[in-house]
Amino acid sequence: PNEDSVSASLPQPSISTPSGESRWSDTTPYASKKKLQSWLQLSNGDWELVKIISTSGTESVISLPDGKVLKVKDEDLVPANPDILDGVDDLMQLSYLNEPSVLYNLQHRYNQNMIYTKAGPVLVAVNPFKKVPLYGTNYIEAYKRKAIESPHVYAITDSAIREMIRDEVNQSIIISGESGAGKTETAKIAMQYLAALGGGSGIEHEILKTNPILEAFGNGKTLRNDNSSRFGKLIEIHFSETGKISGANIQTFLLEKSRVVQCNEGERSYHIFYQLCAGAPSSLREKLNLRSVEDYKYLRQSNCYSINDVDDAEEFRIVTDALDVVHISKEDQENVFAMLAAVLWLGNISFTVIDNENHVQAVEDEGLFSTAKLIVGKDTIVQKLTLSQASDARDALAKSIYSCLFDWLVEQINKSLAVGKRQTGRSISILDIYGFESFNRNSFEQFCINYANERLQQHFNRHLFKLEQEEYIQDGIDWAKVEFEDNQDCLNLFEKKPLGLLSLLDEESTFPNGTDLTFANKLKQHLNSNSCFKEEREKAFTVRHYAGEVTYDTTAFLEKNRDLMHVDSIQLLSSSKCHLPQIFASYMLSQSEKPVVGPLHKLGGADSQKLSVATKFKGQLFQLMQRLESTTPHFIRCIKPNNLQSPGSYEQGLVLQQLRCCGVLEVVRISRSGFPTRMSHQKFAKRYGFLLLENVASQDPLSVSVAILHQFNILPEMYQVGYTKLFFRTGQIGVLEDTRNRTL
Ligand code: ADP
Ligand code: MG
Repeated sequence: PNEDSVSASLPQPSISTPSGESRWSDTTPYASKKKLQSWLQLSNGDWELVKIISTSGTESVISLPDGKVLKVKDEDLVPANPDILDGVDDLMQLSYLNEPSVLYNLQHRYNQNMIYTKAGPVLVAVNPFKKVPLYGTNYIEAYKRKAIESPHVYAITDSAIREMIRDEVNQSIIISGESGAGKTETAKIAMQYLAALGGGSGIEHEILKTNPILEAFGNGKTLRNDNSSRFGKLIEIHFSETGKISGANIQTFLLEKSRVVQCNEGERSYHIFYQLCAGAPSSLREKLNLRSVEDYKYLRQSNCYSINDVDDAEEFRIVTDALDVVHISKEDQENVFAMLAAVLWLGNISFTVIDNENHVQAVEDEGLFSTAKLIVGKDTIVQKLTLSQASDARDALAKSIYSCLFDWLVEQINKSLAVGKRQTGRSISILDIYGFESFNRNSFEQFCINYANERLQQHFNRHLFKLEQEEYIQDGIDWAKVEFEDNQDCLNLFEKKPLGLLSLLDEESTFPNGTDLTFANKLKQHLNSNSCFKEEREKAFTVRHYAGEVTYDTTAFLEKNRDLMHVDSIQLLSSSKCHLPQIFASYMLSQSEKPVVGPLHKLGGADSQKLSVATKFKGQLFQLMQRLESTTPHFIRCIKPNNLQSPGSYEQGLVLQQLRCCGVLEVVRISRSGFPTRMSHQKFAKRYGFLLLENVASQDPLSVSVAILHQFNILPEMYQVGYTKLFFRTGQIGVLEDTRNRTL
């Protein structure tokens, strides 16, 4: 923070807890509360700005905006900021950093299309759900020349470039927020800026074209977002010595493959299916025997075929153009589309029951999916399948093909973007990863996503904390560890071996007789004493995450974690004459030493060596964290102001919940527990020196400063004297400012 920042020259905030219970600072004399504006919480949870008319004891008489006068308890009031602070572009400038003030400030800006606000080192972005005039060449130029200072993704990206060059340290831009908050758009805006500043080699066009491709294959319409990313993404953009982009590399995380075979009413599967059906030229259409979307069971089940203002046929052309740009041959493109058609076709396979033991046969193709081979020791057993086993086997194949296709595409893109030999090793990474999720019903996916968010939150805390501490140490102040609530306990709950959530999940997944219920019971048996764990009835359990409690339903946890494939299905793929299915079969085999697992796993007892989904994800996360650790991070927290994807509506409760979840208030709290106000000795002496009642022998700024501190009885634990600056705890400069204002 800048020593000249406004925060040092304004009355200081009162004490505010992250839960929003704000209190008048104990040091605030009652008289000074008079005529102040204040926040009063209404019964609907929203805050109303009121004026304090008088105070006595612990009660105040206030007037509402409509003129009504009320008597309220002081504890129901939260201090509001003076009008001149309306819409400050950094929340740190607010005198009172409580929840209603933060909410109001963001809203004030949002109403004027100022969707970006700084929260200290963090950029907060509130989704406008409409075009805002903040982007494009002119803005990029202006930010590049530093002609505009207001907070922006461009500004953050600009500092990342500058710091990469200046410090010779890799940078990362970490974007988080819940679904529909604007992460992916923000990532694209950052990429735009990088491409504009680091362009020249031509590779930047390719990099930008990866967006439509990955969105077509990895995004779908959900109830929360018409273009919801169903995977996490890290794109690492490399720079040459001259500061030009020299290449890039994309890593993806945990694609939601269940969407291929099943999605909720009103949602869609991956965009590419609809784009293909709508946009394929007639030759391709004939070759693949494509039908319309309504003819495919996988696409039909959710009753949603189109998205407002989206032309799938046009999107198909954009995607094929983009595939050309990243050097995917026409032949490979056709293979990709053939695989998509195969997945759709798989979904249309139905079965008929052929005997009284419920065994089935595929309606159109005999043999396929109606039996499963099991390898037990050296023997192969052929087992007939029941209806649900057969459809599970069919869906498992469809899901696997799709996720292999996705991985293969990313691999091809990476080959095309590969960094040349003459590279500096300097890079800027952009992370666009799903935010914390808490629904009415939370399953394995939320479990993994929230675990990832615990890891990222720890990175966030540690980093912002470290920076803070470094400044103290640099200035030589006496610095004891600042207490802050870290989330190590919750991470331990997930990661501890052998008695952590992930270990226990893996253990139960390998037990032939393990079920979701035995898993839930095992958790209760071993983790009940853990303070981050809470047992629930039957198959559920609750985790106390940093962002709140989430209750998980263990239904299908084991199955999703095992993610088994039938050996027959893999053989089917490898026997294909086309090369993609063969590659996919080898992908599937390479993930496991013994891929021989099937619905009758328990009879066969063949132990799968395959990595479980959770373990693989954990490995990816560790690797990600390692990569991020070696970078200078820049954090962007995206906020969704309403659930309707509609412009102009700002729901306070919804915004507040996200501010709490993504730790914006936590950052504020962390900086509050330290010495958030700093002022150089010179500035302090100049600003308050005239208030001294007695002359000071030495006129050097430090002596003057110390004399001022003594005269005003600022308690020693409330400040620190550094080599160049004075550091104050929250609220300390208030008395000085008040006196100064009265004297001037
Ligand atoms: P997320 O990736 O967080 O789920 P998206 O980035 O897909 O969310 O954003 C959801 C939608 O919100 C976008 O499709 C777009 O309509 C709108 N949106 C997000 N950010 C912006 C922005 N900066 N300007 C205009 N619209 C935006
Ligand atoms: Mg997204």
